[in-house]
Order: sequence, then structure tokens, then C-alpha cells
Amino acid sequence: MQEISNFVNGQMTKSAATRFSDVFNPATGEVQAQCPLATTAEVDDIIAKAAEAQPKWAAMNPQRRARVFMKFVDLLNQNMDKLAEALSREHGKTLPDAKGDVQRGLEVAEFCIGAPHLLKGEFTDSAGTGIDMYSMKQPLGVSAGITPFNFPAMIPMWMFAPAIACGNAFVLKPSERAPTVPLMLAELMSEAGLPDGVLQVVNGDKEAVDALLHNDTIQSIGFVGSTPIAEYIYATGCANGKRVQCFGGAKNHMIIMPDADMNQAADALLGAGYGAAGERCMAISVAVPVGEDTADRLIEKLAPKVEALKVGPYTSGADVDYGPVVTNAAKDNILSLVQSGVDAGAKLVVDGRNFNLQGYEDGFFVGPHLFDHVTPDMDIYTKEIFGPVLCTVRAKTYEEAIGYAMDHEYGNGTAIFTRDGDTARDFANRINIGMVGVNVPIPVPLAYHSFGGWKKSAFGDLNQHGTDSFKFYTRTKTVTSRWPSGLKDGGEFSIPTMD
Ligand code: NAD
Repeated sequence: MQEISNFVNGQMTKSAATRFSDVFNPATGEVQAQCPLATTAEVDDIIAKAAEAQPKWAAMNPQRRARVFMKFVDLLNQNMDKLAEALSREHGKTLPDAKGDVQRGLEVAEFCIGAPHLLKGEFTDSAGTGIDMYSMKQPLGVSAGITPFNFPAMIPMWMFAPAIACGNAFVLKPSERAPTVPLMLAELMSEAGLPDGVLQVVNGDKEAVDALLHNDTIQSIGFVGSTPIAEYIYATGCANGKRVQCFGGAKNHMIIMPDADMNQAADALLGAGYGAAGERCMAISVAVPVGEDTADRLIEKLAPKVEALKVGPYTSGADVDYGPVVTNAAKDNILSLVQSGVDAGAKLVVDGRNFNLQGYEDGFFVGPHLFDHVTPDMDIYTKEIFGPVLCTVRAKTYEEAIGYAMDHEYGNGTAIFTRDGDTARDFANRINIGMVGVNVPIPVPLAYHSFGGWKKSAFGDLNQHGTDSFKFYTRTKTVTSRWPSGLKDGGEFSIPTMD
């Protein structure tokens, strides 16, 4: 049985852990590796090594730091197939989708090549007589990141790329369910020229996370995962004086207006609702057609397309729309929520409960489900299902539809499908959700914009990537300097002003 390593000081390193968790191949249900669960002492040691490496890295000029990312991007492209295969093998998503996962992280690394420009401070010449004022953006020191299973390439890169480009060292604690790709990324960063110790990967569970939260050397923590853990990490990290940003769960609504192109809306729901088996924080999990006629037309178009979805292992090639979910526990949870929807009286238009894939009976496959007549009091509406289950909530009016999205506790993404610019504009302005699509079902911002939800989908005030990340991973220092022409006149006792 393969034992997963840590990545310490530029080397794959056997963990000292005595506890392990199973890493599955979700398509077959087989345990393919054991992931070590680091102790506090091991995490502390890895952080101390990162702290030793950081000052020299921070002292390197930003252009040279950026060149590591140029090479890294090159290496990601060269290793794309290998990365995607390893990703699909642990996560279950299809190979084209796994490549997308790597690509969206690669684009953040590309953005970080602009570090010399992004790290420039402000300067005021002659702010007062003979006085100049300038600000510097300095790295924090050692930052840490805790990432979820569902984007094992993209989300680690969202964090470590800007953190490292800013001159920090970074300790990554990936999901114990998909640890291989983060380790491969760290190896590629090393190959690209990153000095040893600047990017460390430590595998673990709550004990490792708590070690990061309580270690005084760690200056900032980034987290992406479920909302209860996001809240815990935000509260604990802040109480320990760290800078923290946490991104949580989602329940993304797509509103379909009566004037929408129904073919386009149905296709959009298909990809956004069932792609990656619904295991995306930007998946659409609630469709809100406005008006009975719109709802009827939508269900009529959508149901046969959902029935026809092809579910299978990533090894089947391009013919598969989505793969298995990540664990058997995830499958059980999804199916029990589906049952709760049926029990609560929602209409299960497409029933995937008895889905069985010949030859893959032990895999964690879940058939596609489509619900109609879902109401906001049902668990399938309030809870994040994180599976191939789309709920339809019928609204009589636009106001009722926007109200559902606004009243839901999550606020990650949303979309509206319409041909009316005024409605779209009103929606984008009023909605209390962080990422909005207009005739775009999964509005994930590109690397040079920033990613982040509102309400219970995010905690902290800065988003991921884009210029926000350069703010999150630096501190501003402002210098007021005067080079007197002669030694001056004695003390000043009132606050200095520049008039
Ligand atoms: P998760 O919360 O179970 O795990 C995320 C990380 O937290 C992992 O590294 C895990 O080891 C760690 N962790 C788990 N339990 C912990 C505990 N008790 N104490 C401390 N650390 C703990 O999430 P997941 O199942 O890996 O990912 C799916 C979730 O992530 C979904 O809710 C999804 O919406 C969310 N997500 C959000 C975004 C976003 O940007 N908002 C992006 C991707 C995924």
C-alpha cells in the first residue's frame, strides 16, 4: 500500500505520523494509498523550517521571484496530462474537468508573474518641505493554507502562488482525501527554482489544522471548505491574532426568466448542476423558473437531458459527463438527502437512486436527480447537498425569485438567464451574493479578478486571487522621510501636519 509523503525542504519526506486515513479511487472504491495525519510536533517542525527559509526568499528581488512562476507555468503545461490523471484517480472527476482544475490554478500562477508591478508601493514626493512619503508592501512571514478535496490543484494554487510571489513562505495542508496533486505541485515549484523550505506540504486532519492555528510563527491562514469548519478556523485564527480568510459552502440559485432562451438555460443547468457530480462550490443546485409556464417548459427540456447524462469512470474517456463522488460517506449523505426530499413531498422528476454501473459496483457513483416543486422549508433546499441533485423552486414573480436567492444563508454564486437587460442589471445590483452570472451559469472570476462569496459562504474581508490576494499576503508599511539640510530646531510637540 502506497504511503503518501509530506514535502519538506524541497524533498518528499516520510511523515512521522502514526495515524493514517484511506485515500480512495472513487471509481472503483479501492483504497489506493494511506495519507499520514501529522502530529502537532511534526507540523511545528515543518513551520520552523519554513520560517528559516523565508527571509532569504523575501530578500530576493520580486522579478527573480516572478521568474520561478514563469518556469512553474511552463512545467504545469508540460505535466498537464500527468497531473490530470493523478487528480481524476483520487477525486473521480473526468480528465477534461481535471485539466480545467489545473488550468484555473495555472492562471493564478500566471497572474503572479506580475508580482513586481503588483508589489509597487505608493510615493509622494515633497509631502511637506523636504519630506517624502512612501509605502511598502512587505510579506507577512509564514502563511498557511487548508484546502478542500474538490479542487486539489486550483485551490492550493489560489493560495500558495500569491503568498509566495509576495515573499512569504507557505505551509499547505491539503485535503486528506486528495493529497497527491498538491505534492506534485510542490515538486514542480521546486523544479522551477523555488528555494527549499519556501513551500512545505504537510498532510493531516484536525490535529494538523489546530497546530497551524495555534503556532505563533504562522501569520495568516487561508481556508476553503465547508462552512462549519470555515467558521471554526476563522474564529480560532482571529482569536490567535492571525490574518484569516475562510471560504465556505454554497447553494447557488439560477433564475430563469420567461423570456430566457430555454435551450440555452437547460444546457447551462445541465453543466452547472451535474458537472463534477455537483461537487463544486459554484455548482448551480437550485433552479428558479419564474412563472408556471416557464417552469413547465424548463422541466420538459431539462428532464430528458438529465436522464441522458453519462456517468462513469474518468478512464472511459471523453464520453463521460461526470464521475463518482469522493467517498461512500458522501454518496450515503446525498442519497439520504434525496430521500428526505421525497419524504417532504418534492417531486422527483429524474430518480437516480437505483443507478448502478456495471463493472464498477463498488465505485461511489450517484445517478442524476432532478427535483421539481421544492419549497424553502425542505432540507434539500436549506442544506448543501454537494452531489448531482438539482432542485427546482417555482416562483410566481421575479421579486419572489430574487427573494429566494437573497434569503438563503449562503451567498457564493448566482445567475440569471434572461433576454432583458434591465432585469439583468437590477439583479446584478440588488443581489446580496458575491459572484453573479448574466446568462453565464458558473461565473467564476478569472485570476486577475477576485473570487469570493458573501454571507455564510465567506469569512474575512479580502477575496482570493486578483489584487486582493496581494493585499492579503502583505502588510503595508508607510515611511515618512526627511533628509534635513542641517540639524534642526528642536522638538515638535503637536502632531505633524504637512501644511
Ligand atoms: P471540509 O470542510 O470537510 O474540509 C476542508 C479542509 O478542512 C480539509 O483540508 C480538511 O482536512 C479540513 N478539516 C476537516 N474537518 C476539520 C475539522 N474538524 N477541523 C479542522 N479542519 C478540518 O470540506 P471538503 O469536503 O473537503 O470540501 C467541500 C466543501 O468545500 C463544500 O462545502 C464546498 O462548498 C466548499 N468549497 C468552497 C469553496 C469556496 O470557494 N467557497 C470552494 C471549494 C469548496
